Amino acid sequence: MQDNLTILKQCEAFLEGHFLLSSGRHSGGYCQCAKLLRFPALAEQVLSTVALQVKDLAVTKVCGPAMGGVIVSYELARQLGVESIFTERKDGEMQLRRGFTVGKGDKILIAEDVITTGKSTMETVKVLEDMGAEVIGAVCIADRRAGDCAFVLPVYAALKLTIDSYEPDDCPLCRAGTLALEKPGSREMPAIVKQREI
Ligand SMILES: [Zn+2]
Repeated sequence: MQDNLTILKQCEAFLEGHFLLSSGRHSGGYCQCAKLLRFPALAEQVLSTVALQVKDLAVTKVCGPAMGGVIVSYELARQLGVESIFTERKDGEMQLRRGFTVGKGDKILIAEDVITTGKSTMETVKVLEDMGAEVIGAVCIADRRAGDCAFVLPVYAALKLTIDSYEPDDCPLCRAGTLALEKPGSREMPAIVKQREI
């Protein structure tokens, strides 16, 4: 079986090169998990490695903050045989809407595509805990936390991804001069990746 990083590269969810980020910084890699979630069979395969890590936690629900967490939550909940719900932002505030309920006795995993600082994840934790539920961890495709991240929940990830970024005037890729700077998403891909048989 291929490892998760290979799969992410194959479906263009992880690109290597020389990228101009929206922050203005340059980086040697770019991650867009939605590119993986285009392929349900690949998403199933990658997230099965996360399901394996959490199968003994007696989870009752998985909750994915919209948009990034919704599909991850759905697929993981499907594999665990539990309920999938999502929180969403309304008037700038994270909320549980659409008649979804959680309460005492619920042991919930928060699902994200990527966890970087965990800040937005914690907004969802607060919503669920205020309703009496217990949040026992966070799951994600790519764990991009830096070493100094103070995120308090256990994180169960399909892969750990470290992508360094640089100020434009201090970029080793610019100095090397071998890779042209490009905006993520602007690259012309030579061929459509076909969904593989599993
Ligand atoms: Zn550069």
